[in-house]
Amino acid sequence: MFQSKLFTFMFKASRSAVPKVPKSSNGSKGFSFRGFHNSPKMSAQYRRFNNSSSGSNQINLSRLLLSRNTIYAGIGVVAFCAYNLENAPVTDRLRLLWVPYWMESKIGGYSYSQILSEYKDQILPSSDPTYKTIGKVMNKLLDAAISNSSDPAQRDHLLKLDWKIHIIQVDPKKVPPNAFILPNGKIFVFSSILPICNGEDGLATVLSHELSHQLARHTSEQLSKQPFYIALSLLMYAATGVDWIGDVLINGVLRMPASREMEIEADHIGCTLMAKSCYNLGEAVKFWQRMYKWEETVASQRGAGALQEFFSTHPGTERRIENIKTWMPELRNVQEASGCYEHQFGMFMDQTSTRKFF
Ligand SMILES: [Zn+2]
Repeated sequence: MFQSKLFTFMFKASRSAVPKVPKSSNGSKGFSFRGFHNSPKMSAQYRRFNNSSSGSNQINLSRLLLSRNTIYAGIGVVAFCAYNLENAPVTDRLRLLWVPYWMESKIGGYSYSQILSEYKDQILPSSDPTYKTIGKVMNKLLDAAISNSSDPAQRDHLLKLDWKIHIIQVDPKKVPPNAFILPNGKIFVFSSILPICNGEDGLATVLSHELSHQLARHTSEQLSKQPFYIALSLLMYAATGVDWIGDVLINGVLRMPASREMEIEADHIGCTLMAKSCYNLGEAVKFWQRMYKWEETVASQRGAGALQEFFSTHPGTERRIENIKTWMPELRNVQEASGCYEHQFGMFMDQTSTRKFF
């Protein structure tokens, strides 16, 4: 859920960099594969075993791989990766992160203009009262995120961003519930998600998850891996002459599982932010239960694939609910340490954020 348009853009960019199999001598198209989440359009190509051009490609490839320049470049890449490795928050998985804040903001800006032009006629006017509610929730979450960040560069970056909310009016029967935050601080909420949120705590569940992707720098992480994905695709194509092998390997083995891990990280960081901001964590579970109901309704109408989660960038909703329930004792402790229970009993009435972004 909450799939960022930016990732879709990056995915398309990487695919377009991979050369397609040329037409065969009889004019028929080569074997092509459009990825798991698109409708696959496949056609087969007959390949002779003694295809001389394929053989010479492989000889050239091994020559290229063993050349002195390639070995030097390889050593440089390994040193660069080793220097830019770090541990991801929450799960502690080792990841490559070299994209600076200014670059992710710039790419966010590019996506922002694209999304604005796509939805310009559907954006609700700023007079709509929902903006005030979303702004109130975001103020509290951002305040908690900045106050609890141990990285001065990140605090500075979050404070400098020009935060803005856009609510996009959509037909809930046609457009699935969605929301996302671009790395330049622009927030998009589709109206189809508002009934599922059912109030401020539900909104906090969605927005804290999206904000957590920014805090964990998941967009920069995806961008950091992009040149390697493109290089791997090109290499697989050069070695085999078949373009779908690179796609299957990158999407099924590398991109999808990494993306699911990022989602779990974002859920965990998001719930912690909710706890620090004194939101009702029971409502986070109820939000996902409502989302599950929505998914079931859609699945009963359109049908669902059995291998949906394996081929998905997001973990299954039932798993997300179970995760939140597992984290609950730890989250209750965070709430207690944040003075939330005193708030509930009216000892400290002022729960509003100190910083205002909206
Ligand atoms: Zn997400």
